[in-house]
Amino acid sequence: MNGRLVPPELLEVLRSNADRTDREAVFPTDSLQVLRDSGLMGLNVPSEYGGHGASLREVTKVARALAPACLSTAMIWAMHISQADGVIRHAKSELKSELLPRIAAGEEYLASVTTEGGRGSDLFTADTALTVDNGRASFSGRRAPVVTGGAQADGFLLTLRADAEAKPHEVTLLYARRGQLTLTRSGNWDPMGMRGTESFGWEISGEVPAGNIVGEAGKFRSVAWDSMVPTAHIGWSACWLGAAEGAYRELLRWLRAPGRKGGPDTRSELLRERLGRIRVDLDLVSAYLTRVCDYVEEARAKEASLSSPRSQLRLNSLKLAASELTFSAVDAMLQTAGMGLGYTRSAPLALERTFRDLRSARLNHSNDRMWPATGALSLLDTEVDLL
Ligand SMILES: Cc1cc2nc3c(=O)[nH]c(=O)nc-3n(C[C@H](O)[C@H](O)[C@H](O)COP(=O)(O)OP(=O)(O)OC[C@H]3O[C@@H](n4cnc5c(N)ncnc54)[C@H](O)[C@@H]3O)c2cc1C
Repeated sequence: MNGRLVPPELLEVLRSNADRTDREAVFPTDSLQVLRDSGLMGLNVPSEYGGHGASLREVTKVARALAPACLSTAMIWAMHISQADGVIRHAKSELKSELLPRIAAGEEYLASVTTEGGRGSDLFTADTALTVDNGRASFSGRRAPVVTGGAQADGFLLTLRADAEAKPHEVTLLYARRGQLTLTRSGNWDPMGMRGTESFGWEISGEVPAGNIVGEAGKFRSVAWDSMVPTAHIGWSACWLGAAEGAYRELLRWLRAPGRKGGPDTRSELLRERLGRIRVDLDLVSAYLTRVCDYVEEARAKEASLSSPRSQLRLNSLKLAASELTFSAVDAMLQTAGMGLGYTRSAPLALERTFRDLRSARLNHSNDRMWPATGALSLLDTEVDLL
């Protein structure tokens, strides 16, 4: 699948940078530049601010087109789109007027700071407190152990405890321009996969106008369920699916190549069953992804909340299913391709990199947190109202 907004030349840039980005664990700066130039950084920004005003389905099409070329770049883009959605739906009008035209013009790449050092990755709590005084909002020493694109981002959306007296779950979302922050890098970035996201840790301090608070102070939870959770789960799932379907496409082409040397016999029942299972899993993720997009768009059209247990279940189910099924699909592809074609870095198919990259899907907002939460939500839906 190729989104109509993604020209082949753009994909070629991503593809040509993917190997170096992965080998050296460096950010794909040239790939981000072509995304900035293409207008895709403002894909979901309303047209009145100069963006494309695209639907969630269109976002997934673009993510699925980018991911086979470079999953790191696709995720960098999808995370930015999710942050942009938070600004579109919850920033005050003055901040929107300032920021959205820059996002649409590709001048403002947004990074996300939710994970906090010492506290783990519970999205809905924060430790470092914000001080709001005399129209200014300031904070100091926010430890952010994993920030995708932190060295390149033009702006950041950070979660902070609402004030020094607030409880950890009273969280405020704040936008800050890079120039308004002091960023001190901490730690190394040499992970197994998603190496191009260059997700170093940082310690961050800063002061911004209080109007940069996105949504209501202390009410990040409602911003998250309305905007960032749905768009992140949809965008990430589309990226993971895109990477897996791209790998599957390549594997099938290789299996069917006339005169291919080596590899399994396509008449083998074992091979056929494995290929069938991969196909079914990818189809299931694709169908559920599309259905969740429509569900979120329908809720948005009715201005309905997505924070009910049923909605949370659906949004969580998408992330859990996509992260696990796409990884197991690529694992099965690697088994099929074998040592020569799949397991080595220099193999003709990029299965080895895709396998390492997709292993992060279960960690990126840990499924270990999400499965128990989803089980608890299931107990509240005794009607078992499936999507
Ligand atoms: C490629 C990539 C990019 C990322 N980019 C960003 C970014 O831009 N900004 C950002 O803020 N964060 C980012 N993150 C961080 C991410 O959102 C998570 O915070 C992080 O991956 C989770 O870290 P963790 O595995 O230590 O799990 P945590 O959720 O912090 O959990 C810590 C430990 O507790 C265990 N655990 C959790 N729940 C349970 C349970 N119920 N029972 C028993 N054990 C449990 C986990 O298995 C883990 O070992 C990124 C992560 C990745 C992989």
